[in-house]
Amino acid sequence: MNMASVPRTTCPYCRRVLSPWRHRRLFGLCGECHRPLALVPDFFRPPAYRIWNLLGIVYVVTLPIIGGALISLAIGDLPPRELVTVVSLVLLLWGATDLWDGYAGIRTHMVRTRTRVLENSAAVRVSAWKALAGAAALVIGITGLSI
Ligand SMILES: [Zn+2]
Repeated sequence: MNMASVPRTTCPYCRRVLSPWRHRRLFGLCGECHRPLALVPDFFRPPAYRIWNLLGIVYVVTLPIIGGALISLAIGDLPPRELVTVVSLVLLLWGATDLWDGYAGIRTHMVRTRTRVLENSAAVRVSAWKALAGAAALVIGITGLSI
């Protein structure tokens, strides 16, 4: 088999070619952008696996939690005090995620927006704001839990 025809795995965050994934390793860091990655089973093509960006998974998992809590509050099943606890916990997760993303962006000079990957000074500027927003979310989350 001609190895040049085998597609190389790319990072879901920065789109650069990943170094070979070690056997049986579930989590890892991209060597280029330093974002956490996870090996997830591909439910549509077993036994294949996909590499996902863990920071993106946090948002995908927590959005239904916030939506469910707001719907429960509207229906009247969830007391406002517990809504504050749920929102605070989600803010802690989002804050930690943004802080990691911002710190990694400052270190690697690489950050991803919705449409493209920014590099150099623009990436550092966006990453610094991301880290600041993450720190603010952490403070708000801690404050919400201590009420
Ligand atoms: Zn990467």
